[in-house]
Amino acid sequence: MANRPRPALLSVVVPCFNEAEIVVHAHERLSAELGRLADVDYEIIYVDDGSGDATLMLLKSIQAADQRVRVLGLSRNFGHQIAVHAGIVEASGDAVVVMDADLQDPPDVIAEMVARWRAGVDVAYGMRTSREGESAFKVWTAKAFYRLIGRLAEVAIPMDTGNFRLMDRKVVDALLTMPERDRMLSGIVAWAGFRQEPVRFRRAARRAGESKYPLGRMVRLAMDGILSFAQLPLQLATWLGVAAAGIALVGICYAIVARLFTDAWVTGWTALFIAILFLGGIQLVLIGLLGEYLGRIYGEVKRRPLYFVRERLGFARADDA
Ligand code: UDP
Ligand code: MG
Repeated sequence: MANRPRPALLSVVVPCFNEAEIVVHAHERLSAELGRLADVDYEIIYVDDGSGDATLMLLKSIQAADQRVRVLGLSRNFGHQIAVHAGIVEASGDAVVVMDADLQDPPDVIAEMVARWRAGVDVAYGMRTSREGESAFKVWTAKAFYRLIGRLAEVAIPMDTGNFRLMDRKVVDALLTMPERDRMLSGIVAWAGFRQEPVRFRRAARRAGESKYPLGRMVRLAMDGILSFAQLPLQLATWLGVAAAGIALVGICYAIVARLFTDAWVTGWTALFIAILFLGGIQLVLIGLLGEYLGRIYGEVKRRPLYFVRERLGFARADDA
């Protein structure tokens, strides 16, 4: 069933944000690894996500020396997922690999991904079996994030997978028709379907530089993932509301009975106090939740482009510099 072109063109998309310490080394390893693949032509698309350091300059010199390299410079920092998307838009390969610049996604795994693709798999996604050199806290939060998403989301988003994956052209074309802004790659690819299979690998430690995903950004990504793939939080609102209304109803009956048939009704103010706090709390939580969804709807309806390109080098197009 799989009739994959031979030789095949492989596009490798690498988002880079302040990776000056590592891009040159990363490129050497990556191109060495890609050069070893049989029957594969490749292009590497580096997306500079508005780095503030020398990353773009280094990428340009890499590009000048290697005509298989393309460089896309975004107009500012748009974030990891958007940078990946921008690279995918430009990719012309029969299959597209997405990987991080910091060599945490080992380039030698690509060979295995290509083999799976040739065997008919449409998405070969990297699945981490271990994470070296990352703090216990980072590992724990990442785990918790994937478990939580696994419970809440409508489609099964594979656990312990990041962006590192190979996608067939038809999957890429499918992704490009999905216009949303919350582009958590593992989520939208899972949603798109097709034949998907994990490729297990050990996640290496970052070779240089530091993680651009401190806690705050992890939380945002988690929220994006959950709110764009799960209706459960909204249903939670209904359940909590019903429960609160039930409790309130019992309280109302009690108050009426106490008022009519006993003379102890003035003392009921404690219950009243608690009820007000309880309802107030639930209401604030739910308003916050609605606000999160509303904010995302607002983001979507503005229909702004996902990103702007400032510079493009090495692409076979008229607007080349
Ligand atoms: N990245 C990006 N834009 C950002 C943040 C990160 O393009 O705003 C890139 C970064 O250069 C790296 C990849 O996304 O190639 C993953 O980021 P990082 O290694 O910081 O994440 P972690 O591996 O710690 O989850
Ligand atoms: Mg990393």
